[in-house]
Amino acid sequence: MTRLINDVQLDYCDVLFQPKRTTLNSRSEADILREYSFKWYPKTIKACGIIAANMATTGTFEMNDALEKFNAITCLHKHYTHEQIKAYFKKPHPLTFICTGLKDDKEKLFKLLSENPHIDKLCVDIANGYIPKLLGFVKELRAKFPNLLLMAGNVVTGDMTQDLILSGADIVKAGIGPGSVCLTRSQTGVGRPQLSTVLEVSDAAHGVGGMICADGGCTVPGDIAKAFGAGADFVMIGGMLAGSDEAAGELVERYVQTSWVDKESGDLTIELRRYKKFYGMSSKLAQQKHFGGMAKYRTTEGREKLIPYTGPVEHIIEDILGGLRSTMSYIGARRLKDIPRCTTFYTVNKQLNTVFENMKDID
Ligand code: 5GP
Repeated sequence: MTRLINDVQLDYCDVLFQPKRTTLNSRSEADILREYSFKWYPKTIKACGIIAANMATTGTFEMNDALEKFNAITCLHKHYTHEQIKAYFKKPHPLTFICTGLKDDKEKLFKLLSENPHIDKLCVDIANGYIPKLLGFVKELRAKFPNLLLMAGNVVTGDMTQDLILSGADIVKAGIGPGSVCLTRSQTGVGRPQLSTVLEVSDAAHGVGGMICADGGCTVPGDIAKAFGAGADFVMIGGMLAGSDEAAGELVERYVQTSWVDKESGDLTIELRRYKKFYGMSSKLAQQKHFGGMAKYRTTEGREKLIPYTGPVEHIIEDILGGLRSTMSYIGARRLKDIPRCTTFYTVNKQLNTVFENMKDID
């Protein structure tokens, strides 16, 4: 019989942090670097918990070079050749994941990992983490590579999270349908609002000694803080980084008509603005660019968007980390790891104060 879950499922925009008495006098006292130790991976890493998504546009070498200065992680996209990866890892990159799907050449990947033990962080990324093949692959990887930091997903429920961790994953990637260029919800009717996903999945993961990466759906720095507040150990972002120089999308210019009309002449203002192309990995564009066209049985589950150009990614990451530090000082969390235990959320009917939304900025 069809079952209905009546609990309201929440997104980041449905909650706000309750401010709390704090022992921090300034946001500069908040420590955003966390030392992570894992269920299976034998080493520790020190990072700020933010991961650039393994999308063709954001999981680039350039992104990694810029983000590692902030101890942020990059999950490289899977369209680099192994030769390119080996050349890139000639220099140490202690916070960089490589990525694979299930259809990629397994034997070639095993060869790369066994001949290059310093490349020891792998993300197995598939849209539907519930298919049985994923568990089998995670088990195989763990048996062959006990020293691998292994992230796998995507799922949105506790049962599958625990299965993946007990099968060998250190980090489970959580999120189906929240991504900015994702069409899964409209094309398939499947998905779960991301805050509820993170709450359940992190609890399940931590219960068996694993960790989670909240993947997708962050649109403003506060959303990233909320993901940590709900229990995420890592937060993966795509769209928020996609307008930067380090993202691979093509830079395009467009004339944009603003809403202003000159008082004297009645002229409309037209501005030239710059954008970067950003596309979902299941979009038609990605299928054409990276997979030589769309398979007949597929439907497109990704969008193609123009994102306002933002310049160097360091400005964006500084903005995100500044926001995160500020959240921590509002809720009394001295360390990144303390955020969930300092978190009380209000459910709200509106996240942002949009009083002047339709007014023009002064410059
Ligand atoms: P964002 O930070 O842009 O909201 O979300 C990034 C995430 O969206 C990625 O890490 C990935 O999980 C997801 N994603 C990327 N491309 C696609 C796509 O074409 N379809 C779907 N369903 N999800 C995508």
